[in-house]
Amino acid sequence: MPDIHAKLSASGSSRWLNCTPSIALESKFPEQGDGGFFAQEGTLAHSFGELLLQKFNGDVDKAKYARKLNRLKKSELYDASMIDHVEVYTTIVIEKFQEAHANDPNAVLSIEQRLDYSAWAPGGFGTGDAVIVGNGVVEIVDLKYGKGVPVFAEENSQLMLYGLGAYNAFEMGYDLHTVRMTIVQPRLDSVTEFEMEVSDLLDWADNVVRPAALLADKGEGELNPGPWCKFCRARAVCKARAEANLELASYNFKDPRLLQPAEIAQVLGKVAELKSWVDDIKKFALNEAEAKGTKFPGWKLVEGRSNRKYADSEAVLGALELEGYAEEEFITKKLLGLTELEKLVGKKRVELVLGDLIVKPRGLPVLVIEEDKRQEINLKSKAEDDFADDLDANG
Ligand code: SF4
Repeated sequence: MPDIHAKLSASGSSRWLNCTPSIALESKFPEQGDGGFFAQEGTLAHSFGELLLQKFNGDVDKAKYARKLNRLKKSELYDASMIDHVEVYTTIVIEKFQEAHANDPNAVLSIEQRLDYSAWAPGGFGTGDAVIVGNGVVEIVDLKYGKGVPVFAEENSQLMLYGLGAYNAFEMGYDLHTVRMTIVQPRLDSVTEFEMEVSDLLDWADNVVRPAALLADKGEGELNPGPWCKFCRARAVCKARAEANLELASYNFKDPRLLQPAEIAQVLGKVAELKSWVDDIKKFALNEAEAKGTKFPGWKLVEGRSNRKYADSEAVLGALELEGYAEEEFITKKLLGLTELEKLVGKKRVELVLGDLIVKPRGLPVLVIEEDKRQEINLKSKAEDDFADDLDANG
């Protein structure tokens, strides 16, 4: 269960801890939905993890377990390797719990535990995939199912906030001295751990989290661009981020004509963030122009390039055969591509014989400078065409 409802969420904490006005700025942009395929896949994997641990804990009987398992397996996002990956995580949780229990009969394993850290960040809470308490240690084990970006436990603010929540939940019944945070990312073969003494975690909570959370909650503080901008909803149009990236242009290079290795190294160090910023701006501008008709001075929306293709391969084969071409001339393993066919048959002849069987699909819209020769897209007539296409497609 992701902690999507907390304004000062643990998953977004690297952003609001480092850039306190980001939450206020983000609220001007729509939520980015359910995150699409990968987020849904992660949710399904977490449901498997929860069920397997519930079975271990004796929280579900056999019949209920089988029913739930079957239901989860019916998801279109399920594939057989998912359970293998999730079992890497559940095995680690079970082993950790058994070790804790061997030394402390009061050890507990809590699954999908609500972790409330609102004592430091107003309204802050999250959900711990697995929390193990025993021997004076509270441990959070977090499953990260994604494999696109490696995530590590060390000084991970999301896990540290979960740690605070876990400490908060169990400190009454247990004499806790350590908080341990573990991230299991099975599809990257990665298991990382980070440990803090309770006193250090509380120190961080009082001196870093609380002041930042108070500012973030009120939308105050200084904008502070950094790697945490990556998932900020304001990232495409945030001026602070733009200024940080444009700083590159004002570098005071030593030699006015040629870049020196150290200067090239400086530029290289900026490339990834620059590219991601440029991509964010291009995507934002295209979307604004297409969806809202927003005009960007000096730029216009045109139809992107596209390639001609056969409208109906079977009909093309028939037409060529009728013209007397032998099949082996225009089929190797599959029908020759259009350019190849034109070389064989001749461009004019292809046009004459195939005519309407060659179509040129509409190119996806792109933003180009006004000097570009292509015709500007008329959004009104495009909408009418799209509507007509829909009618055709639906019969
Ligand atoms: S883009 Fe970066 S600097 Fe701008 S509000 Fe978001 S986190 Fe802060």
